[in-house]
Amino acid sequence: MTATLTLALSKGRIFDETLPLLRAAGIEVLEDPETSRKLILPTNQAQLRVVLVRASDVPTYVQYGGADLGVTGLDTLIEHGGDWAGSGTGLYQPLDLKIAKCRMSVAVRADFDYVGKVKQGARLKVATKYTTIARDFFASKGVHVDMVKLYGSMELAPLTGLADAIVDLVSTGNTLKANHLVEVERIMDISSRLVVNQASLKMKQAQIRPIIDAFAKALA
Ligand code: AMP
Repeated sequence: MTATLTLALSKGRIFDETLPLLRAAGIEVLEDPETSRKLILPTNQAQLRVVLVRASDVPTYVQYGGADLGVTGLDTLIEHGGDWAGSGTGLYQPLDLKIAKCRMSVAVRADFDYVGKVKQGARLKVATKYTTIARDFFASKGVHVDMVKLYGSMELAPLTGLADAIVDLVSTGNTLKANHLVEVERIMDISSRLVVNQASLKMKQAQIRPIIDAFAKALA
């Protein structure tokens, strides 16, 4: 008997951009998450289902076996506690899917002298949702920071005096521009990764390998 395979995805960009890869593996998701209220979506393969979870919960689902595999941004993976290779979290990270591409950057108000402050060795107040990435980045530059953890609308922080700088994802740069912020450092390029539960990979090799291989072929 074939075991059920569960794929964790988040609604929106990751779901939309994973669909063509699934199609390349012969997998069609049978319901549209934008119109369905279901959190478990069937596919054309009886043994494979998709679960819709919050983007930041994808690594948790896969790590603890609530899902066998998932798609998640490198930013989310690092903040979850894995390193670049995803080690130490029970997550196997076989593929960079090169989707949902953006960058993690530092931005400040256009009238804030970031370079000057850094040169002076000033202490910076940094607001972000991505505290691990921000802390590591500023530590590597030898810049002292006070971190303010936020869960959204980071752009507001420098405008209201809550922080000198933000660390956030930037794609087109339009959000920064609309809020009179400028990008002053690019910390890292971000894209989404396929993550697999290591125990599932062992137990369900025969089902998981063909999916990884089909994704890899579609990306080549
Ligand atoms: P943009 O205006 O195109 O630079 O997009 C910036 C906004 O979209 C910020 O609020 C980001 O947090 C969010 N964003 C951009 N790209 C991504 C991505 N790949 N994944 C999640 N959020 C993103």
